[in-house]
Amino acid sequence: MKDHLETAPVIDALHHGDCPFCQLRDMIERQTIERYLGGAVMEPDIRIKTNAAGFCRAHHRQLMAQKDYHGYALMMQTRLKTVSTQLSPAIRSLGGGSLFEKKNLAALQHRAAEATARCLVCESMENTVSRYMEIFMKLYREDAAFREDFSRGAGVCLYDLPLLLEKAQSLPPAARKSLSEALSRQLNASLRTAQEDLDALCSSFHYGSEQKNNPRIHEALERAVNLLRGKTFDCPDKSNEQ
Ligand SMILES: [Zn+2]
Ligand SMILES: [Zn+2]
Repeated sequence: MKDHLETAPVIDALHHGDCPFCQLRDMIERQTIERYLGGAVMEPDIRIKTNAAGFCRAHHRQLMAQKDYHGYALMMQTRLKTVSTQLSPAIRSLGGGSLFEKKNLAALQHRAAEATARCLVCESMENTVSRYMEIFMKLYREDAAFREDFSRGAGVCLYDLPLLLEKAQSLPPAARKSLSEALSRQLNASLRTAQEDLDALCSSFHYGSEQKNNPRIHEALERAVNLLRGKTFDCPDKSNEQ
């Protein structure tokens, strides 16, 4: 049962059509944002985590968009208190004496950088994707149908590629070779297609260009960015729009 619970999201993500790890990251992001507000705000272990790490700007925007103003305010109340406690000695020293001015600048610089470096949602996404990549390798090693499904798909984005290649080192030689061949073919194809589609999109802006009717220009820009940096844009089908 536990095995199925772990493998099901990876198998589902593979059937989505885009980079499966971007799909998984999206799912984890939604679940994590929802978890940190609502009831979890009052759970001491969650509060210890949110107090210690905080969130990046993109995820603060998503937390605000949940419209749980009370829960969000409570969470930020103790986060702010934690940061103030961490920074206060360095802030006092900075204003206190000129003798160690340079050292005091560096101390506060370090503290402030530390206070703004982490995001609990980003960390949760990357940790879980890393775990899903290990499950991916297990499935790839043991399940012929999974290998075929992956081989038929579009592969992965460039953002997820480095960690996937690192995890692939753990595969036995035959599975590693098969994954390497699949990835090489998929990456060649996805880079070439993205380039052709973007070329067509750029040409379509020229006066009188016939590329305006080329269906491949739809979402070409979004797909190119998603391939280069991981899923950044949803790709609603604009081909039906007037
Ligand atoms: Zn990806
Ligand atoms: Zn974040």
